Amino acid sequence: SRQFTRPLNDLANQYNTLLSAVAGAERVFDVMDEDKEIEATKTVDLSSVKGDITFSNVSFSYDEDGQTIYDVSFQVHAGDTIALVGPTGAGKTTIINLLSRFYDPDAGTISIDGQDTANITRENLRKHMGFVLQDPFLFQGTIRENIRYGDLDATDEAVSDAAKLANAHSFITKLSGGYDTLLSQEGAGISQGQKQLISIARAILANPKILILDEATSSIDTITEIKIQEALGRLMAGRTSFVIAHRLNTIQQADQIFVLNAGKIIEKGNHQSLLEDKGFYYELYHGHLQYDAI
Ligand code: ADP
Repeated sequence: SRQFTRPLNDLANQYNTLLSAVAGAERVFDVMDEDKEIEATKTVDLSSVKGDITFSNVSFSYDEDGQTIYDVSFQVHAGDTIALVGPTGAGKTTIINLLSRFYDPDAGTISIDGQDTANITRENLRKHMGFVLQDPFLFQGTIRENIRYGDLDATDEAVSDAAKLANAHSFITKLSGGYDTLLSQEGAGISQGQKQLISIARAILANPKILILDEATSSIDTITEIKIQEALGRLMAGRTSFVIAHRLNTIQQADQIFVLNAGKIIEKGNHQSLLEDKGFYYELYHGHLQYDAI
């Protein structure tokens, strides 16, 4: 199959643990950040964001055993879609973890609109970031509450408008409880694909400039998959999106593909230019290299 096999485990786990710890709470990230936040020397308040992102010579290791990310540099223009591809363990998740400041780099800088993220509090930073992960976290509460989690001040009308854009409205209104349908902790009673649509609605409502998407690897029925792709297209328009891409068509459509191997970006380009380079990506694409993807 032309799919990656490894989910965005670390980020998904951290994010879900975090959300379940504080479901319904307003300051989502404070709980996990309490101990870890490195005091910013000067704090910059990012009130609005365009979404230009730069990594400059970023290196990072989780422990002393060795470096996980080596001297990674790239520039992303606001609104672009970036596909991160590469074998399991290459460092795709770690790049996202660093961008989201789940960890801070050992060396180098990460900036958003030219501002070093080290000077932006995590809480502030993540107001501008949305996550659509392949196993979306839904908390115990109604569907309406689960969508409103993206913006606690949203009106019922704004919630249903977001659900409409996310192609979730029609399945929600077919449920006997509609938007008041109670979801259990695991979101039981609705399908994996429907959970994704709810998490897309939540992200649309949150309206962040930077998106982190982890494409589902599990098979979702074709009709729901089409709905998800369409909803994601609406969500991603005008936002900077990083996709841990499991699907070939997403990779092909990305403005830039970053090919990672062993903690380094070894190739950058779009699908066509990378094929023309006849390098690692070309070999992956043509199946000459062992890979859990493409
Ligand atoms: P990918 O997303 O491309 O599969 P990751 O960024 O998850 O790769 O992993 C890069 C490397 O970092 C791997 O060797 C992985 O085992 C290691 N790693 C990932 N998360 C942690 C962690 N929390 N602690 C220690 N090592 C980790």
